[in-house]
Amino acid sequence: MTPAGVGFRFDVLTLFPEIFSGYLTQSILKLALQQKLVEICLWNLRDWSPDQRHHQVDDRPFGGGPGMVIMPEPVFACVEAIRQQGPEPGTLIMLTPAGERLTQPLVRELSGLKRLLLLCGRYEGFDERIRLGLKPREISIGDFVCNGGEVPAMVLIDTVVRYVPGVLGDEKSVVEESHSETGRLEYPQYTRPREFRGLAVPEILLSGNHQAIAQWRREQSELRSRRTQPTTERSERKEGEP
Ligand code: SAM
Repeated sequence: MTPAGVGFRFDVLTLFPEIFSGYLTQSILKLALQQKLVEICLWNLRDWSPDQRHHQVDDRPFGGGPGMVIMPEPVFACVEAIRQQGPEPGTLIMLTPAGERLTQPLVRELSGLKRLLLLCGRYEGFDERIRLGLKPREISIGDFVCNGGEVPAMVLIDTVVRYVPGVLGDEKSVVEESHSETGRLEYPQYTRPREFRGLAVPEILLSGNHQAIAQWRREQSELRSRRTQPTTERSERKEGEP
């Protein structure tokens, strides 16, 4: 349990805490927060700027180049201050396109911790001394560049909370899903109506034969997984093939 007695605590260090307000007040996360299964604390890095007047947190890069770089002082001060809250200092994560790729096994690993501090960059990113001095774990959500670390932080929170006990209605969800323990992608799912615009639900799903349904799902799951293998294999697919 975290200091506040909740299951999992995230501390988000950002220049734009307001970005999170809609996301935190909807659906699964809203319930998880209400039930105190998860706690999310937002910290504005500007509050730790040594510049009391303008709350400046960034400056031009030495050596020239475009954009602005986040200075070390506010980040160090913020991390050090919030780590002192409670007995568990937590794991510091820097969201960066240069980091280790976020995958389902990594999500699962992170969900085994109790507190994550998520450091969101902006502009051209962080002064290198933040990485060298605070030694964060560096995580990327993919090989592309977002405008800031807030959306990557939300992706990380969104994926990790699915493993926090009690957050999902049915805990089997995380076991059977794509990229889960099975190593396969999930099978196709259908709901009502039985027929929609000429597309019918496969008969087998209406058969009531649970063994046959499980077998069909396994086969579909394997088919789907094979289809999303590396591009060389994918490009071998015949035209018109789903
Ligand atoms: N100049 C940096 C570079 O080339 O690597 C990119 C800076 S990006 C515009 C600003 C911030 O967005 C980064 O500091 C990081 O926190 C976040 N960010 C952008 N893309 C990301 C990704 N793929 N994964 C995680 N964080 C990302």
